[in-house]
Amino acid sequence: MKTQVVIVGAGPAGLLLGQLLHRAGIDSLLLEQRSGDYVLGRIRAGVLEQGTVDVLEHAGVAARLRAEGLAHDGVEIGFRGFRHRIPLKELTGKQVTVYGQTEVTRDLMEARAATGAPTVYEAENVTLHDIGGSPRVTYRHRGENHEVACDFIAGCDGFHGVSRRSVPADTITTFERQYPFGWLGVLADFAPLWDELIYAASDRGFALASMRSQTRVRCYIQCPIEDTVDRWTEEEFWAEFGRRIGPDIAARLPRVPALEMSIAPLRSFVAEPLRFGKLFLAGDAAHIVPPTGAKGLNLAVSDVFYLYEALRGFFREKTTSGLDGYSARCLRRIWRAERFSWSMTRLLHSFPGDRFDERMQRAEIEYLLDSPSAQAALAENYVGLPL
Ligand SMILES: Cc1cc2nc3c(=O)[nH]c(=O)nc-3n(C[C@H](O)[C@H](O)[C@H](O)COP(=O)(O)OP(=O)(O)OC[C@H]3O[C@@H](n4cnc5c(N)ncnc54)[C@H](O)[C@@H]3O)c2cc1C
Repeated sequence: MKTQVVIVGAGPAGLLLGQLLHRAGIDSLLLEQRSGDYVLGRIRAGVLEQGTVDVLEHAGVAARLRAEGLAHDGVEIGFRGFRHRIPLKELTGKQVTVYGQTEVTRDLMEARAATGAPTVYEAENVTLHDIGGSPRVTYRHRGENHEVACDFIAGCDGFHGVSRRSVPADTITTFERQYPFGWLGVLADFAPLWDELIYAASDRGFALASMRSQTRVRCYIQCPIEDTVDRWTEEEFWAEFGRRIGPDIAARLPRVPALEMSIAPLRSFVAEPLRFGKLFLAGDAAHIVPPTGAKGLNLAVSDVFYLYEALRGFFREKTTSGLDGYSARCLRRIWRAERFSWSMTRLLHSFPGDRFDERMQRAEIEYLLDSPSAQAALAENYVGLPL
C-alpha cells in the first residue's frame, strides 16, 4: 500500500491534520493504537483559543462547537479570599471558547468517518522505517502485518508515542521541567456555580473551577506528586476544593457522583527540532505544557495548521519552503506558550519550602492584580498569540 502521508496517532492533532489534508485533496492513512471509544474516554483540555476555533472552522468541523461552545470574555483569579476578574475581551478584543477536547475529538472522528479516509484503530506495533529516505510504516492489525510506503510521516502520537523515539538520539535535544505536584481532577454533572473559569491561589494550594458545558463541571486541586486517586474520596475532594475556591461556592456545591476522577502530573517539555528528514512531529509528541495556561490542545492545533500549510505547499505548489521552515515556525510559538504556562504555574501553585520564593510569588500576584498592563499581558497570552 502507498499513501501520501501516514499520520501516527488519532488524538486531536492527528485527526485534525487528516481532516485538513483531506480537504486539500491530500491522501492520508491514520494509525491509532487504541480503540475509538478509548480515545473518546480520555478527559483532557477544555479551553479553545480564538485561533483554534478559526482552524476548526477552516477544517469544516465547527458546527456543533458554534452551537454548543461557551464564549468567555474573562477569567477570575482567586487570591486571599477575594476574586479578581481579568476582562479578556476588554483587554484584547478576543474571547476563549469552552468546549471539551472530547467533543473536538468526536467532531473530528465523525468528519473523518464521513470522508471515508482510512483510519486503523487498535494498530499494534507501529514502526517507522527509513525516515531520512523513502519512509515506510509497518504495523499489525487483527493478527495481520501491514506495510505502507509514504512521502511523509506525521508523528501525532503524543508524549509516549513511537515517533519521537524513532529519531536517532544524537539528532534531538530535549528540555524538561518536572513540578513537585499534580492536579487531581473531577468531572461531574451539575450546572456550574461560576460564570467564568476561576484560578485560585490559596494558602492550601491551587484550585481551578472550570466547566465543559452548561451542565457539566471539571474541577481540579493541586495535590502532592506522589498522591494516588484511591487516597481521595469524592467527599474529601469537594471539601478541599471548597476551602480553596471560596466559601460562597463551597456552601452551594451539590453532592453528585463524579463521572471521572484522575490525577495528571505537571510537566514542561520541548523536543527540538520538530523535523527529521521525512518525519514531522506535532502536538504532545513534541512538547508538553502544564495545563495551567490551557495551552496543550491549542499548541497541538497550531503545529498541525503549520504542518498542513507546509504539506499543501509541497503537494499543490511544489514548494519545500513550508516544510523547511516548519520546525522554526512551530518552536517560536511553542516556547512562548511554554513560558506562559510555566509562569502561570509558578504564580498560582504552592511550592513547598522556600520562604523567599513564597514572598516573591505573593508580590507577583499582588502586582498582577494591581497593574492593568500586567493583566493585559496575561490576557494577551491566555486568549492566544496570533497563529
Ligand atoms: C490527563 C491530561 C489532562 C490534560 N488537561 C489539559 C487541560 O486541561 N488543558 C489543556 O490545554 N491541555 C490539557 N492536556 C493536554 C492536551 O490534552 C494535549 O495537549 C492534547 O491531547 C494533545 O493532542 P495530541 O493529539 O498531540 O496528543 P494525544 O491527545 O496524546 O494523542 C496522541 C494519540 O496517539 C496515540 N498513540 C500513542 N502511541 C501510539 C503508537 N505507538 N501508535 C499509534 N498511536 C499511538 C494515542 O493513543 C493518542 O490517541 C491534558 C493532557 C493530559 C494527559
